[in-house]
Amino acid sequence: MPLTEEHKAEIDAQRGQTQQTARATAPGMEARLYTAHEVLDHGFVRVIDYMGDDAAICQAARVSYGKGTKSVSNDEGLIRYLMRHWHSTPFEMCEVKFHVKLPVFVARQWIRHRTANVNEYSARYSILDREFYIPAPDALAAQSTVNNQGRGELLEGDEAARVLDILKTDAARCYDNYEAMLSQEGQKGLARELARMNLPANIYTQWYWKTDLHNLFHFLRLRADVHAQYEIRVYAQTICEIVADWVPQAYGAFEDYRMGGVTLSTKAIDCVRRMLKGEAVTQETSGMSKGEWREFEGVIR
Ligand SMILES: Cc1cc2nc3c(=O)[nH]c(=O)nc-3n(C[C@H](O)[C@H](O)[C@H](O)COP(=O)(O)OP(=O)(O)OC[C@H]3O[C@@H](n4cnc5c(N)ncnc54)[C@H](O)[C@@H]3O)c2cc1C
Repeated sequence: MPLTEEHKAEIDAQRGQTQQTARATAPGMEARLYTAHEVLDHGFVRVIDYMGDDAAICQAARVSYGKGTKSVSNDEGLIRYLMRHWHSTPFEMCEVKFHVKLPVFVARQWIRHRTANVNEYSARYSILDREFYIPAPDALAAQSTVNNQGRGELLEGDEAARVLDILKTDAARCYDNYEAMLSQEGQKGLARELARMNLPANIYTQWYWKTDLHNLFHFLRLRADVHAQYEIRVYAQTICEIVADWVPQAYGAFEDYRMGGVTLSTKAIDCVRRMLKGEAVTQETSGMSKGEWREFEGVIR
């Protein structure tokens, strides 16, 4: 369970309160505010606060005194133009703060995105909960035979059971020993900041993570992509759904130009032009490496 009854009551109480504001609000985001969206077996993502909406992007781009928006289609056209031409600063005018609960090994990938503000739960101050990520059957897979940085066939039967047993027993043993080592009545023990080093990387941590929309799109482009590890991708996909409700026009442009778009090299554009003229271009005549050609074919076929 990602949330206790006490946590749920706190969230409900927060959602029950409303304040009048002169600030712009996004209805799609208001509906999401504070709610915990479950991810993996014990994790979640929830929006704590946000600033701006689609109109705020146009307002900043036009450096407007008033609302800065024109018609919906005019605004959407402007947002698409900004996205297409990498005019990124208007997107930085929107901000969002998330509360995320995630396994430590996912946090280690996530924290590489430096253009955010982070405050993590202190395991020097507090005792970590006994919560470990144990992959569901459809995420329990062997090393890929074609991709060194990925997984291949799913584990089944005895092999799946053997691996799950190791994961569960090790997690339980490490946590038991963590508890047994802590300084407490009757023993000197170890300080929390030291005892935690015995915990495995699938234990859950939590943080508040704040970033702007431009850098969030960069994060989502990399982490909601099929090449990202499944365990971080599911968080990114949940955030994509939230962002689509928050800034639907900006998200639409992002999906179109970034998630769904590709960058073609000079060589690739040359190949496309030659193909359009009817030439049968091959990898050998393309000037591209085998890997590049494979990716190029993946785009055009
Ligand atoms: C599929 C995948 C596999 C990966 N594999 C590995 C791996 O094997 N090993 C590994 O170490 N990492 C790996 N990474 C992490 C990756 O190299 C980046 O660290 C991570 O994606 C964060 O990207 P970023 O630096 O662009 O983001 P941010 O830190 O958010 O930075 C955003 C942008 O700001 C600019 N910027 C920020 N800080 C600086 C700076 N100090 N100097 C110059 N420009 C800066 C850059 O333009 C950068 O693109 C992987 C990432 C992905 C998505």
